[in-house]
Amino acid sequence: MTTVAPPAYDEVTATFEPVIGLETHVELGTRTKMFCGCPTAFGAAPNTQVCPVCLGLPGSLPVANKAAIEATIRIGLALNCSIAEWCRFARKNYFYPDMPKNYQISQYDEPLCSDGWLDVEIDGEMVRIGIERVHLEEDTGKTLHVGGATGRIHGASESLVDYNRAGIPLVEIVTKPIPGTGAKAPIVARAYVTELRDVIRSLGVSDVRMEQGSLRCDVNTSLNRPGEEWGTRTETKNVNSLRSVERAVRSEMIRQAAVLSTGGKITQETRHFHEDTGETTSGRSKETATDYRYFPEPDLVPLAPDTAWVRELQAALPELPRVHRQRLQSEWGLSDLDMQSVVNAGAVELIEATIAAGATAEAARKWWLGELSRKANETGVELAAIGATPQQVAQLQKLVDDGKLTDKLARQVLEGVVAGEGDPEQIMQARGIEVVSDSGALTVAVDEAIAANPEVADKIRGGNVAAAGVLIGAVMKATKGQADAKTVRELVLSRLS
Ligand code: ADP
Ligand code: MG
Ligand code: ZN
Repeated sequence: MTTVAPPAYDEVTATFEPVIGLETHVELGTRTKMFCGCPTAFGAAPNTQVCPVCLGLPGSLPVANKAAIEATIRIGLALNCSIAEWCRFARKNYFYPDMPKNYQISQYDEPLCSDGWLDVEIDGEMVRIGIERVHLEEDTGKTLHVGGATGRIHGASESLVDYNRAGIPLVEIVTKPIPGTGAKAPIVARAYVTELRDVIRSLGVSDVRMEQGSLRCDVNTSLNRPGEEWGTRTETKNVNSLRSVERAVRSEMIRQAAVLSTGGKITQETRHFHEDTGETTSGRSKETATDYRYFPEPDLVPLAPDTAWVRELQAALPELPRVHRQRLQSEWGLSDLDMQSVVNAGAVELIEATIAAGATAEAARKWWLGELSRKANETGVELAAIGATPQQVAQLQKLVDDGKLTDKLARQVLEGVVAGEGDPEQIMQARGIEVVSDSGALTVAVDEAIAANPEVADKIRGGNVAAAGVLIGAVMKATKGQADAKTVRELVLSRLS
């Protein structure tokens, strides 16, 4: 195979049109599993949350979890879907060591919810993403490959299986194909997953944490030349952050363009995204539906949600994020553009929580969009995972308001917060950061500055108050920025009056 340099992204989108499609899995936060009474808590010792049903032992029978069905219907309603009046679970047959029954109970041609949409805002414009279906299934267990360097099966000496996750209710949300987004395809993909996460979080049915795997996303991408039919899609897995959703689409577009431009063909396959390189590598060639030998699950009765119940659930839906954001925007007094940057930074909830912890809207926005966004960008982490909590940001602002920190010192303290050194007051103590406001120590520093700059002092004595800046600067330097500039100014002027 010859290697040519990959084409630039601009070239890719000048020659090809992308189509994307997203499959998102959400682990529901129900107390018990989908078809048995086992607990679902995250992080328990391996194989302590299992029973004959979720271990697939002979003679055990599943019973559907009503809370999971309710949560799925609420997700469907929030996504403007039709709710099936009658549908069935289906068996999806395949072997995998972390799936003890050798089949997964899922839904196939009779999903609980179908044909909806979700609006996402891209650069001030709404893009409507079609929702193909929302269905309910059970999660698999987890395989752990040990003894190797990478944690992958390759090079491992043994593999361990933990069935605690097996049988946790999992909702799959599949979009219709999304054509027509051109060069914006990567940001549309990211904005959709972000909005979907926020919708699901507002329903309170899952903690939707990508880093813990309770929100997982597969990204389908294809390219075609204008006027031609849609191309063959690949499905990229292992996309573990919002940022990676965007990167995965982009890098897959570039890779496919390179193949197509040299006369090659795209194989329908799953691919794996690598956080470190930002690229995808080939996984397995994709099974088709017929490979799974789906058939209606004979151990479960059909699902027929009562229309009155569905109507009740619809009426009880909470304020959805888009409406909520509009309300916040007017409460915070922000322009569309300012609100957009808050949303783009992923800061809506953080600012909201910071205000709830006592800060003003203005101060909360300043810290999250300024210093903290900059840090997040530098280190490539989501703002919410930066290491500072809304409570800590509110505490920091209070210290500034109380005159215990200057803005500059507050930034030093924030650095400590982000580095995990504790709450602002702890960091001030540990690092010895404090505003020098004790006038005894300050007076000495001011007198030293006057003595070192006799001409400047004369000017001030002569009424040139603006010259005080030089002396204030000298004092700030001598106190390593720990003095309060306003106090220093007052001292300088009173010593020279
Ligand atoms: P599978 O189970 O094979 O992954 P799904 O129906 O669950 O299939 O999901 C396929 C996803 O790919 C859907 O989101 C669909 O909209 C999307 N898709 C279908 N055709 C294309 C295409 N040509 N290019 C990009 N995405 C596509
Ligand atoms: Mg799928
Ligand atoms: Zn169980």
